[in-house]
Amino acid sequence: SRQFRLAARPVGLPKDSDWEYREEELPDPGEGEFLVAVSHISLDPAMRGWMNDARSYIPPVGIGEVMRAGALGEVVASRHPGFAVGDHVSGAFGVQSHAISDGQGVTEVDPSKVPLPVYLGVLGMTGLTAYFALLDVGRPQAGETVVVSGAAGAVGGVAGQIAKLKGCHVVGIAGGAEKCRHVVEDLGFDACIDYKNEDVAAGLKTHCPKGIDVYFDNVGGDILDACLARLAMHARVVICGAISQYNATGKVTGPSNYLALLVNRASMTGMVIFDYVERFPEAAAELAGWLAEGRLKAEVDVVTDLATFPEALLKLFRGENTGKLVLQVAA
Ligand code: NDP
Repeated sequence: SRQFRLAARPVGLPKDSDWEYREEELPDPGEGEFLVAVSHISLDPAMRGWMNDARSYIPPVGIGEVMRAGALGEVVASRHPGFAVGDHVSGAFGVQSHAISDGQGVTEVDPSKVPLPVYLGVLGMTGLTAYFALLDVGRPQAGETVVVSGAAGAVGGVAGQIAKLKGCHVVGIAGGAEKCRHVVEDLGFDACIDYKNEDVAAGLKTHCPKGIDVYFDNVGGDILDACLARLAMHARVVICGAISQYNATGKVTGPSNYLALLVNRASMTGMVIFDYVERFPEAAAELAGWLAEGRLKAEVDVVTDLATFPEALLKLFRGENTGKLVLQVAA
């Protein structure tokens, strides 16, 4: 088994020396366990947070432990009644080529229906996060204006597409002209603001003439502040993530425009996808339906070779991915 273990707690962007790459004997499954040959690993901005020794919604990864990650793989040995050799499965298998599992939190996936990486994207945690954060927390109504940051990314791309399905006017914010073209032409958003080359406040004024009813925030920082300044009455701000702050070496920057919440009787609500586990089947079925009907596009960005994990993870923080970033274990 080849694996990446956490060697040190990073300061700022993770460095190569924060990881230990190790090769170990293949483990044998015990009674009630099975062995998975991991094929695809989900790369998530949240992994940066799990590397910190800080109180959060989930305990940090310990020094010396295999890095936590959602992944897909095939069962290659089993002493578990519910999982047979040849089954394709999704679970928290970590950044490694092989994993032992007792089946907890593991679901079966069907590679004959959609390409495997899609089970980490639209049909995985990404799609579920977009679904619940938008529909449960954002609660958009047809005709309302929804703004989504990180719009060319995994969660943002799905959130904006769902908002379009619900009849909203949808404005994305993404880095670069090509990403903005993709968000409008391929994903069907009404407009997209290139925050790296355009003035965000001016763009919001142009594209959200009646103000923002739902702001789906993936990035935090200055973009959150600009959106707060443009809220409509009774707006809902969904705090899904704040990637601009994850590698901060000093204090996290909070929004200075928060009094816009008072003026507009608006709310700002954090969401964590793990709270919705019981409703995953219902949401996954609806997402799969939209995908099958062609009403939702599944963007995946697959990079190869487990050994490149430290570099591949940094793509998220450099904005080098479009859609769901997935690491294929094989070179
Ligand atoms: P993405 O696919 O969106 O990848 C990250 C993107 O963030 C990059 O491509 C880049 O796009 C953008 N980005 C990077 N740095 C900055 C910055 N400094 N300012 C603005 N944008 C930046 O990742 P995911 O879709 O997986 O995750 C999106 C967000 O959702 C994250 O904040 C993540 O933590 C959160 N999340 C939250 C969950 C929850 O339960 N609350 C569950 C899953 C994800 P660009 O080129 O446009 O800058």
